[in-house]
Amino acid sequence: MTQPPFSELPLQPALLDNLTSLGYTRMTAIQARSLPSILAGEDVLGQGKTGSGKTAAFGLGLVDGLEIERFQVQGLVLCPTRELADQVAREIRRLARTIPNIKVLTLCGGTPLGPQIGSLEHGAHIVVGTPGRIEEHLRKGTLRLESMRKLVLDEADRMLDMGFQPALEAIFGYMPRKRQTLLFSATFPESVQVIAERIMTQPVKVQVEEAH
Ligand code: ADP
Ligand code: MG
Repeated sequence: MTQPPFSELPLQPALLDNLTSLGYTRMTAIQARSLPSILAGEDVLGQGKTGSGKTAAFGLGLVDGLEIERFQVQGLVLCPTRELADQVAREIRRLARTIPNIKVLTLCGGTPLGPQIGSLEHGAHIVVGTPGRIEEHLRKGTLRLESMRKLVLDEADRMLDMGFQPALEAIFGYMPRKRQTLLFSATFPESVQVIAERIMTQPVKVQVEEAH
């Protein structure tokens, strides 16, 4: 099925032009089904196979409406692994490359804390990381989420499989209640449903079978 073009979305021209230059002309199925709700500020619970384009769906949601002049963390993405966090950060930077001065920071375990703390002192608009390290920064007070307005859980089922539930619970305690929450998962076992019910408000459910 042919999906609509990105130009049907209420995105700023700089973002639309960039999508064209990246060769993103038409939305993928999950993007077409989720982006109108994401851009309207609704909570979205998304299920889609690998390669269905979930990163751009939540990435455009994070980048749209960002207050660049406020150098504070406004969006947080939690991923199960460092490799995924790096991929997600790279994709968000690509989507946002026409927005001057945007800062996307990755915070994952397995790397020294010192340089991460230094980067946090310089400020960032979007943070992408793994739950353990994000929790550590929150506990230390080196990461602050007062200005956070958008939370993304990517591959939620894998995060729970990897034993990140306690870290996630702790992180939720540091976040403003008034925020948009987007949760993506390949599967929806009970554990994911329980978390979704706790942290989301009347989520729009989007399920896509085919990749495009
Ligand atoms: P998922 O997280 O759903 O597994 P990704 O977000 O990693 O999938 O996207 C898979 C690939 O598709 C990436 O290489 C991405 O650049 C590309 N892609 C995403 N959306 C589009 C689009 N609308 N048009 C063309 N390519 C896209
Ligand atoms: Mg993905």
